[in-house]
Amino acid sequence: MDLRDSIRIIENFPVEGISFKDITPLLADGEALREAINQIVNHLKDKNIDMIAGPEARGFLFGVPVANELGIGFIPVRKPGKLPYDTYAVEYDLEYGKDRLEIHKDAIKPGQRIAVVDDLLATGGTVAAVSKLIEEVGGEVASLNFVIELTDLNGRDKLQGYDINSLIKYD
Ligand code: 5GP
Repeated sequence: MDLRDSIRIIENFPVEGISFKDITPLLADGEALREAINQIVNHLKDKNIDMIAGPEARGFLFGVPVANELGIGFIPVRKPGKLPYDTYAVEYDLEYGKDRLEIHKDAIKPGQRIAVVDDLLATGGTVAAVSKLIEEVGGEVASLNFVIELTDLNGRDKLQGYDINSLIKYD
């Protein structure tokens, strides 16, 4: 199965000039969804991962099933004001705009090995922010996993030294 067949490309969304990769056909197809989750699980299964972390909202869609399959827990990384307990926050640049992400201060025990899961790697700003938050609360970022990577945006340059796994690449 080619997972690429389950991605729909929408031009000029959400703003002019962006070629948006729509993952909803992949989510709607049980076989494709299982294949994507299995591929991420296979990449992580021998890496001694303690927990999965994922940014809202699309990171939740893939991160929780991966955590469930590995038999480990999930840490939500959220937009401002959503997490109810004490948080750390970091501001970051998006492919289009600026944003802020938060994590619960007690989400990770010192030295735990955390794998990040998100739907897509573009400029790398989001996952760099997630990695910073994980390190701030004492975790080790053991792997960064994406369903899709937009290689032309050179997100990997921002993420040197990290293990990076993406299932589908677009130029
Ligand atoms: P980055 O921070 O790497 O520039 O952008 C990645 C983040 O923006 C991801 O969390 C992802 O959900 C979102 N994103 C940016 N472009 C796209 C896209 O074309 N399709 C999807 N599904 N998400 C995108």
